[in-house]
This record gives sequence, C-alpha cells and structure tokens, in this order.
Amino acid sequence: MTTTNDLGLYVHVPFCRGKCSYCDFLSFACQNDQLLKEYARALAVEMRTRRQDVEGYSVDSVFIGGGTPSLMPIESFQLLMREVRDNFHVEEGAEITVEVNPASLTREKLEMYRECGINRLSIGVQSFDNRTLRILGRLHDKNEAFNMIQTARKAGFDNINIDLIFGVPTQTLKNWIDTVRQGIFLQPEHISLYSLQLEKGTDLYRRVYDEESLNAVPEIVDREMYHDAVTLLKGAGYHHYEISNAALPGYESRHNTKYWSYQEYLGLGLGASSFFRGQRFKNHEKMSRYIKAIKENKPPVDEDSIEKYTEREEMGIYVFTGLRKAEGVNLKEFRDRFGVDLFTVYDPAILRRHKGMINLYDDQLYLTEAGMDVSNRIMAEFV
Ligand code: SF4
Repeated sequence: MTTTNDLGLYVHVPFCRGKCSYCDFLSFACQNDQLLKEYARALAVEMRTRRQDVEGYSVDSVFIGGGTPSLMPIESFQLLMREVRDNFHVEEGAEITVEVNPASLTREKLEMYRECGINRLSIGVQSFDNRTLRILGRLHDKNEAFNMIQTARKAGFDNINIDLIFGVPTQTLKNWIDTVRQGIFLQPEHISLYSLQLEKGTDLYRRVYDEESLNAVPEIVDREMYHDAVTLLKGAGYHHYEISNAALPGYESRHNTKYWSYQEYLGLGLGASSFFRGQRFKNHEKMSRYIKAIKENKPPVDEDSIEKYTEREEMGIYVFTGLRKAEGVNLKEFRDRFGVDLFTVYDPAILRRHKGMINLYDDQLYLTEAGMDVSNRIMAEFV
C-alpha cells in the first residue's frame, strides 16, 4: 500500500455508567456489558467497510473517545484495537489515546491498554473538589481521580492528559485555582481547561434556569478563572498552545491539533464526525440507523449530514479553527491552500479594531493572550 496522506482516526464509544448533570454529548447511561460487546462488534464491521476508502492514508493518531471508552470490557477493547490495526495503516509511533473515567478504570484495564499499544491517556478528572464533582454528577471523587493518575503512572503511562472544568455553579475562584494547583502538582503532560456551557435539556441547566436552585457563574468570574489558570500553567512550564489546552513542551496533542489545522480525520461509531477526502459528514446519531447500515455492510454515514460549504465558508473554518492555536494561521499556507491572500478576503481593519488582541507578525496571524480571553468576539469576524 502506498501511504501518502496522514489521517486521524476517532472512535466514538457512546456509553457511560450514568449521565453527568451537565452532559449533552452523544452518550447513554449503560449498565450492561452485553450492549458494549455488541457495539464493539458493530465498530469492527464499520472499520472493515472503511478499509478500501483509506487506501493511500497513513494513520498517525487514534483517539478513542466518548462517552466512556474505559467502560468497554477488556476483550471488546482488544477486538477494537485489533481491527484498527488490521484495517488501517497505523504508523509506527502514532499517538493512540483513550479517554478514561476514574470511576470505571482498573489496574487490569490500564495494563491491557499498554499491551494494546495505547500510549496516551485522557482522564476525565474535571475537578479535585468533591462538592464540584457532585454538582457535575460525576461518579468519582477527588481521591479516586488522584489515585488513578498515580496508578496510570505505575502502569507505565508517560503521556497523560487531565480534563478540568470551570465555571461550575457553586465553584469559587479559589476552589477552581486549588484544582488547577493540584493538577499541576501531579504533573500530567497535558491539561485541558473547559469552561462549562449550560446546555438546554441537561439536569444542570434545569436547576439553574428552571428551578433557580443554583446560580450560574457570572461571565466576569468565568473569564477570571480562565485567565488565572492559564497564568498558573504557564508559570509551571506548560505551553498554552491552544485556547483550552496546555502541554509540557513536546506533548501537544497530535490528534486534537488536526481539528484546528484543517487536517483530515475519519470518525467511526455512532454520530462520529469526519473531514475526509474534502467532505465533512457525520455518522447516524440514532443507534437503530447506525446498526441497520452496519448490518448492510455499509459505512453508517448520515447522508443528510454531508456539508457542502462554499470556498468562502471553508476559508472561515480554516481561520476560525486555526486561531484557536497560539501559533495562529500562516498567511502563506492560507494563500497556498485557497489561492488568495487572507486580507483580500477579510477586512485588514480587523487588526486595528482588535488592537492588542490579534497580531500579525512574520506572516503569522494569531491571538494574543488577551485575545484568547475574548476569542469568540474576534473569531466571529472571520465567519
Ligand atoms: S462521562 Fe462524559 S460523556 Fe459520559 S455522561 Fe459524563 S460528561 Fe457525558
């Protein structure tokens, strides 16, 4: 097989032990191993249906996310990884991440992950404050998260991400900063910081906006939380390489960087998104439709999801996602890709309007730290 193009592979596992109070991801509460086993077999079939399509591609990152992939029984996970390697050309040294939840991770699973070639763990810690964890409806406490990181180290993982979340009702600036400090103390190679979005239909949204039994964190406090966390992380040697992500040098996530760098990725599993061979599309979000396609041995793509963006819209995606990265967007690469200069498409006055927030230096257009604090406002200029 001639391999020319790099590809990221995303595998979605849409099951969790329970539903967190803030979650509007495509995931379902599941207590049943049988369902997980059947789903893994369906994923295996989907991978086989994609074998022909990925001729000429070389997979340099695999991300098994969810949901809670660490719920998957050992033999089902092993099946998944065998099928990944049998159906895709996975490069030697590819970044292979699995998302894990401290409530469903065991030493035995960690050892199996190592044997399967998983070389990066992304742990859904969210907080080291038990009250915040309860408000979020997480099924683990801070000690379990703490112990799991240490167990992962003992199992040999030397590339660990932890997810932390801020702007949670009842969370104060002080207890958020304590969480960040404890995270830094554990020295994970990568830390993701997410600002909580209260989404309609979630339990937390209902408690804040319908029952009014909890108060949303004011925007100004949310921004202070973000700003102070980034300052702490930078002071501890982390590279704040993307709006929501910081890593020790050399540990920036290869897979996630694809999403911000206009690179191709193929999503497998229920509702997974792809940007592949110039098309953006999603798999079916309804399990019955997903399984029907699998039974017919067809890629389970939802035809209605195939996006047909104009060239101008693609430019917007390129700039919008690229500006999430600290390095921003390179004007020459933009010109090479789209055949026009960026500032013939967008008004150069944007630079004046957001002085101090967005800079152009040596052909590189990027947000300053102050710009990242208010990124949505600036990025809106490019869509
Ligand atoms: S573990 Fe993640 S995907 Fe599952 S319910 Fe909680 S937030 Fe949602």
